[in-house]
Amino acid sequence: MVLVTGLYGGDYQSAGHWLQARPLLGSEQWLNQAVFTCDSTLRWFDGPEVFVDDQHCTKGEIVTTDFHQIDQWVDQAIASTPIYDLHTHLYPAAMPEYCLWGLDELLTYHYLIAETIRVSPISYEDFWRRDQEQQAACIWENLFVDRAPLSEACRGVVTVLHRLGLNLQSRNLADYRAWFKNQSAQQQIDRIFKLANVKSVVMTNDALDPKERAYWENGAAEADPRFKGVLRIDPVLLGWPQVARTLAGFGYQVGAELGQESLKEIRRFLTDWIKKMKALYVAVSLTPQWRYPDDSPATTVIKQCILPVCQEHNLPFALMVGVRRQVNPLLKLAGDSLGKSDIVSLDRLLSENPNNKFMCTMLSRENQHELAVTARKHRNLFLFGCWWFLNNPALIEEMTRMRMELLGEAFVPQHSDCRVLEQLLYKWDHSRRIIAKVMKDKFADLARSGWVVTQAEIQRTATRYLSSNFEEFLAR
Ligand SMILES: [Zn+2]
Repeated sequence: MVLVTGLYGGDYQSAGHWLQARPLLGSEQWLNQAVFTCDSTLRWFDGPEVFVDDQHCTKGEIVTTDFHQIDQWVDQAIASTPIYDLHTHLYPAAMPEYCLWGLDELLTYHYLIAETIRVSPISYEDFWRRDQEQQAACIWENLFVDRAPLSEACRGVVTVLHRLGLNLQSRNLADYRAWFKNQSAQQQIDRIFKLANVKSVVMTNDALDPKERAYWENGAAEADPRFKGVLRIDPVLLGWPQVARTLAGFGYQVGAELGQESLKEIRRFLTDWIKKMKALYVAVSLTPQWRYPDDSPATTVIKQCILPVCQEHNLPFALMVGVRRQVNPLLKLAGDSLGKSDIVSLDRLLSENPNNKFMCTMLSRENQHELAVTARKHRNLFLFGCWWFLNNPALIEEMTRMRMELLGEAFVPQHSDCRVLEQLLYKWDHSRRIIAKVMKDKFADLARSGWVVTQAEIQRTATRYLSSNFEEFLAR
């Protein structure tokens, strides 16, 4: 059963099927609601509006209290809406050392290295001595052949291989590798963006990395407009006094003591690179020990450099808080963990700087409720994503549900944090399904409460979650 509102009585044609709307009182009267019963196999509309053949009639809006109908609309909206992925570590093909793609990169993802070393008898030293193909083979043997690939990071590889049409029955690594070797980076970027229905990805760009600087100087980093720049400034905030020498090496008159002249030069550095990268925001990743304010150089640099420069360029300052670096250095990149962070510091930063825009995500599950409440209190805080160790279906669902209940449409449920191109397929397939699941529940709850749900508003919510909330926050 489907309700259509805003129609005149009469006959309507949609997708080749005729429907009759009978007015409640006499003919040719405005109908507040017409109820159509249709065969569930009959697709009699194909867009947000009923197609009306008769020009004397007004287009109606499709509304429903039917839960099955709500499910269909949500699935359709979430699947068809292109994603603006606001934090990744992906790069265009024109930056070949940074553009990671293909089977061996997928398998040697640091999440899978940690999982392999836990279960395999191999020593850390032996593992790291192997080349990347051998490491990938070791990971495949341990996590996909000797065991069922149950973890989320393992399931991700399965989703990717499946979505690329590879034969999962064979479990033959050599065949998969041969398929990937026949692709080019550019081909693969185009294919994956299309399959994942992603329109843009935001990179993580380091203006202190000499190789990466060269790609910005020669324009290669901007060659593919789907890849957007972000100025990541961890060492400028956290690397004192050593970073003074690095900045000085690039021609900025910065001393270790952070006097007025140094601060001015840091502002000049930020401004130069925001412009060069056309940065969408300025970002930093912080440990659970981060406090604001305190007497550290980080507070001075935030107050005196980052906030004024961000405000001048109307850019958000993004904080990703809660990473504990190298709890096991033997695991290298896979050796980071997490800890609960201090929301009071974030509250202070937000309330002391109402004219600055901030983005935040936190790594610990224990922070999520406080963080969502903090977002309610500060309109200058943009809450996003289920970061890193939170990117697990159970936690994504819990967080998305809670955020929807506390913040309605005003947050972004997910970013991918992909390091390897093909991960876009699984991170978004898996997250889309969970976001849709929660949306279905919430719209069904609304219908139960008496709200007459429209297809257009479901589409609008999906668009906000998957792209326009971020675009509108940037433009604000
Ligand atoms: Zn990241």
